[in-house]
Amino acid sequence: MNKGDGSIFSSLLFLKNRTVPLILFFSFLLPAFARAEVNTSLWQTKKSQHFIIYYQETTDDFVNELSASAENYYNSIVDDLGFRRFDFWSWDDRAKIYLFNNSADYLNETGGAAWSGAQVSVKRRVIKTFIGQNDFFDSILPHELTHIIFREFVGPKTELPLWLDEGVACSQEKSSLISRIESAKALVKQDAYLKFDKLFGIYNSTLIVPNVFYSESASIIVFLLKKYDRDFFLDFSRKLRDGIQWKDAILNTYHFSNFEEMESAWEDFMLNK
Ligand SMILES: [Zn+2]
Repeated sequence: MNKGDGSIFSSLLFLKNRTVPLILFFSFLLPAFARAEVNTSLWQTKKSQHFIIYYQETTDDFVNELSASAENYYNSIVDDLGFRRFDFWSWDDRAKIYLFNNSADYLNETGGAAWSGAQVSVKRRVIKTFIGQNDFFDSILPHELTHIIFREFVGPKTELPLWLDEGVACSQEKSSLISRIESAKALVKQDAYLKFDKLFGIYNSTLIVPNVFYSESASIIVFLLKKYDRDFFLDFSRKLRDGIQWKDAILNTYHFSNFEEMESAWEDFMLNK
């Protein structure tokens, strides 16, 4: 991971056609983004306990729904990951969601790839996205919020493999998580999944086959969250936050003697789902 502020975390594609695999663009420190949140000043704002939404010409209904959804997701994500007892940001330091009117304005501002649906800076707690994406409320919003919440807890500079960050983010999606789990199950049945020693070595999205990567990563986190006591994930995250190397943290928390043992426990879990 970049030793800078590690701020630009990912951008994610949710294509309208759900059968098309997601593609992740993992990059750090886009210079334009580091200088200013956005270039234009024509923003209206809607504030809630944890978020400030910046928007331009969208309807009040959409902004009200976004505001309510972001707060609801904030609560469900901290509950599901076991982070409820911790104070994250709130009034004084709210996360910002920039809502562009369309894909062209968003791409123009972020300089992202044409398939990019959202961009998140975990350190600055900023999400940039645009209106009109089918999976926005169902998947994009919880996915990007989870990136921010998880990294808020473990620290933006903590070095983690890609599957861990993306698996945690995917684990909080709604309908897309269901299809990812089904894909992962099929991969296990066909013995076509990425072996853990390969998966664990990926720190850069240029090396991934998106459909396999996201599905498998999501399913491993779901396995850790559902099969074991929920406090384990909190304990694991605490160890990451305290600087324990992620492999030691996982083995130690979940009592696996090695990753072969974890891999076969995950396979059993997937086959019996
Ligand atoms: Zn992501």
